[in-house]
Amino acid sequence: MADFIIIGGGLIGLLTARSLSEGGAQVTLIERSRLGQESSWAGGGILSPLYPWKYPAAVNQLAHWSQAYYPTLVEELIQATGIDPEWTQSGLLVLDSDQREAAQAWAPEFEAEVQIVGAADIARLEPALQTEHPAGLWMPAVAQVRNPLLVQALRADLKLRGVRVAENTEVTHLLSKKGRIRGVQTELSEVMADQVIVACGAWSATLLKELGEEVPVMPVRGQMILFRGPPGLLQRIVLWEGHYVIPRRDGRILVGSTMEEVGFDKEITEEAREDLAQVARQMVPVLEDLPMERHWAGLRPGSPSGVPFIGPHPRIEGLFINAGHFRNGVVMAPASARLLTDIVRQQPTVVAPEPFAPAGRSSAA
Ligand SMILES: Cc1cc2nc3c(=O)[nH]c(=O)nc-3n(C[C@H](O)[C@H](O)[C@H](O)COP(=O)(O)OP(=O)(O)OC[C@H]3O[C@@H](n4cnc5c(N)ncnc54)[C@H](O)[C@@H]3O)c2cc1C
Repeated sequence: MADFIIIGGGLIGLLTARSLSEGGAQVTLIERSRLGQESSWAGGGILSPLYPWKYPAAVNQLAHWSQAYYPTLVEELIQATGIDPEWTQSGLLVLDSDQREAAQAWAPEFEAEVQIVGAADIARLEPALQTEHPAGLWMPAVAQVRNPLLVQALRADLKLRGVRVAENTEVTHLLSKKGRIRGVQTELSEVMADQVIVACGAWSATLLKELGEEVPVMPVRGQMILFRGPPGLLQRIVLWEGHYVIPRRDGRILVGSTMEEVGFDKEITEEAREDLAQVARQMVPVLEDLPMERHWAGLRPGSPSGVPFIGPHPRIEGLFINAGHFRNGVVMAPASARLLTDIVRQQPTVVAPEPFAPAGRSSAA
């Protein structure tokens, strides 16, 4: 019998499995399809909230902890597995000229470097941009990872650590008795464990509902498009009026994203493709001449104010939740995994756990 069952093999489940296994615990990770093929694959991999000053302190605290830890994590993964998740400090250039005061007020608390830049600085920093942007912000420390590669590296790493991974296995029910978790029911069998962690991203509320708890995690669709360009065409992540472009090392440029409340619908739409392409070409005119390689959609696990649910289930002993990371699950994942591990082990936590506690933020179904 495993010590822990983790349900859901996105970045939150993968990193929680890694963190729990570090103490020598027996961990089983159960994933309905293949590891990391949902939101964790679809995301952009920017290691900062967009306009972080618009988010509650709780989100920034997790992001801040993770940002400091990411270089170590990535180095450990490269050493262990040979797979490079391409952590790159590309910086974030914000072209909105009305964010200056809010950004400057936010920066000191999170030790963030925010420089005010004018049109000439913008043109110098990123020559591929069109030059109508009079002012903006430059955040040189912001990094990115290539999230599909991060998933691959974590998969290999968990194998080396002896974590048992069951793919193509859906958990259909949580098994509890007298207010205590006993394990899970899959399509094939019962799997027993003393502690169970729900890390099912946008699908987390569905599984928890049968235990009589409404956890407000809901799917929010995001569509992205991908251009293929020469390496170095664009060097920095650029954000403008809620849209962004992300240059990868190999020249690919991701453009995101839409925000759509359409339930569990991952269809892509012609309208979104055209909107994204238009904004992208307005920002980076040379994209007009480059081929669009791909268009996809993912379901973010939306939550109130984007603050995830991390901690014990309000009524079932031994059951924990790590879900609802909304737009910032890649950047918050390492800290979220560590926080949950600290809570489970009843040790001092990396950040104050209260804002994330499911109790008081969920309601009886
Ligand atoms: C377009 C887009 C852009 C984004 N950009 C960024 C960004 O730049 N930076 C950032 O930090 N974040 C970004 N995000 C958000 C980030 O991707 C998510 O917050 C994060 O990936 C959530 O991880 P997760 O593991 O909770 O969910 P998921 O990756 O969705 O994983 C949940 C897993 O649970 C499995 N599952 C569900 N139900 C069951 C069940 N009953 N049994 C077994 N398995 C089950 C699913 O199959 C899935 O693999 C973006 C998201 C999108 C869609």
